[in-house]
Amino acid sequence: MIIQTSGLSKIFRTDELETAAVNNIDLEVDEGEFVALMGPSGCGKSTLMHIIGLLDSPTSGSYRFLGEEVSQLPERQRSDFRKKNIGFIFQSFNLIDELSVFENVELPLIYAGVPPPERRERVEAVLVKLGIDHRKKHHPLQLSGGQQQRVAVARAVVTAPRLILADEPTGNLDSRHGAEVMRILKQLNEEGSTIVMVTHSEHDAGYCSRIASLLDGKFVSQTQQRLGVVSAAMAKTGTG
Ligand code: ADP
Ligand code: MG
Repeated sequence: MIIQTSGLSKIFRTDELETAAVNNIDLEVDEGEFVALMGPSGCGKSTLMHIIGLLDSPTSGSYRFLGEEVSQLPERQRSDFRKKNIGFIFQSFNLIDELSVFENVELPLIYAGVPPPERRERVEAVLVKLGIDHRKKHHPLQLSGGQQQRVAVARAVVTAPRLILADEPTGNLDSRHGAEVMRILKQLNEEGSTIVMVTHSEHDAGYCSRIASLLDGKFVSQTQQRLGVVSAAMAKTGTG
């Protein structure tokens, strides 16, 4: 089990208003799964992703990552844990325009203290794998949206994270480039990566092994798409 949350809640309080953005969520994700999180705008998808991705901590509830309780880690430890274990892909790519493609992908390895020769090798390998090595000296704004997102995927996976989180990764792409990114995610999943992806696209959710639907911070349904791929442990995670 890579992700196990129980009674996870996040309450935002502003003036008189209290919003339970994430409301008592029980979520279990096994290693090797590819989970789609769906639901209308404002239902809590990004808030849940931020907690799962250790960008934010919950108001209450438990979050175990590979068995370790991480819900209340202090900021510094949370960020170390995140850099070591989790790769993010965002709708808006979030690349650094001043850096080249190579340098963008190299950055997480610098943070991780990987020595330069090994950095070069790993960046080259992932750029080749994602078909963007011929663009390594370019800057993000010189690339198409599809190419930029492939660079962002390369940056997310170069550290070989245990978990990949993608928040609407095809939201800013046309259907051809969106399909290209989805095929890459699918391939990474088939090679063993665990992925949780927020999407509004039924088509993109079709690449996933399970769809979990949120409404007002709660799960309303979970659908297994390819029986046999999804473990029995998942079947227990129906409500929450
Ligand atoms: P989604 O990603 O599904 O569109 P969000 O997780 O962004 O939804 O938001 C869920 C709910 O929490 C919304 O009602 C939103 O307005 C509220 N919310 C999110 N972040 C904050 C915040 N920092 N402060 C106050 N309310 C927030
Ligand atoms: Mg969102």
